[in-house]
Amino acid sequence: MTPRRLPVAPRPYRDELPSSWLARVACRYGLTAQELAGHLADDGNCFSSPAPIDDRDPAADLAKVWAQACGVDPDRLQRLSLTRRFPRRPQSWYVSLGPAWLRSATAGPTPVCFACFAADIDAGRDAYLRAGWRLAEHCICPAHGQLLHDRCWSCHRRLCVALRLHEGRARPVCNHCDLVLAGRGGEGVQPQDRALVRAALAVQQRITASVQGEIPEREQLEKALATLWAPLDRPTAARSVLALWFNEVGWRCPYEARHAVGAEAPLGQLPTRWRFLTLLALNDVFGSDPRVDDALPSAAVHLARRAAPRQIRLSNRRPRVQAVKRSSAEYERLAREILADPGWIAAEALPQRKRERIRARLIDAALAGNSAVSGTRLSSQPRCDPQAIQIP
Ligand SMILES: [Zn+2]
Ligand SMILES: [Zn+2]
Repeated sequence: MTPRRLPVAPRPYRDELPSSWLARVACRYGLTAQELAGHLADDGNCFSSPAPIDDRDPAADLAKVWAQACGVDPDRLQRLSLTRRFPRRPQSWYVSLGPAWLRSATAGPTPVCFACFAADIDAGRDAYLRAGWRLAEHCICPAHGQLLHDRCWSCHRRLCVALRLHEGRARPVCNHCDLVLAGRGGEGVQPQDRALVRAALAVQQRITASVQGEIPEREQLEKALATLWAPLDRPTAARSVLALWFNEVGWRCPYEARHAVGAEAPLGQLPTRWRFLTLLALNDVFGSDPRVDDALPSAAVHLARRAAPRQIRLSNRRPRVQAVKRSSAEYERLAREILADPGWIAAEALPQRKRERIRARLIDAALAGNSAVSGTRLSSQPRCDPQAIQIP
């Protein structure tokens, strides 16, 4: 199959995600990246929805079709993939993106640097999503020293960046409210303390080097991070050991970070500001070179003593079949059921916090209902992960 050559197709940038490049091509035809991929896969016959664009390792046959249609060297496209850029990095060290059906609609819910977007616009080039923004430890832009953003500053929803053509250039907009995401440079939400930002950036860069280096170093880091986010004192606690580091009476883990309590790899599941705090805590408690298996610093010993076993360890007795995750199609079906639920429709006018509570209840109910249908006991299901289903 040789698709027709597209008349206009920009080249990929060296540090760009494959989905970002395809979104830049697609926006020139009024399409999303997935719509364009479907069009090319069907040789222009219809706009079907193929598998979501996989930035980690795009299917070679699909990448070849995109490359032919856009007049780009197929190997150049493959070099954009995360597995080619970071061959030793495991999947758990990337930002968790949620279900595939959400990813496919946009350039992706990737944390972004508004200053990078502003720099793209100032330079007269397309805005694009950088591959480094997908790394789990990456919460500060090295070029601008600003915290990455994962919420729209206007509608405050989880940021899904779409690219739209404006005056011949791709511009980044919020997929929910269409706000152009450049020009504010993180105003009002960036950490005010530049020393803290510099400290976290140094930790971030050290982690990046470790994760892509020797495996023992990475395992030590993973243990240290899992200790910080272990449940405090008891396996079902909603607070993590990190609460001890905050040392504030009555501190409660906010809803947006609660799913990371007890997670095996918490960093990639956290909003960027929580990743920022986790990096600072990691450095403060474990030092610049975590050695969890050796003599621990006294602060780390204190925290480690209060770390309860993670809930997931209790699930080791479960039969193997019960740990199987749901497919993207199942998640999509559940999400559509929730979207059509009268309770969710009625919640549209409610404040964000109430909407989030209702959403959590509906997700729990949907997952429980799904388990009943599949004949699996509810108690055997993995814990509900609020990130697993995103309601637009
Ligand atoms: Zn930047
Ligand atoms: Zn918005």
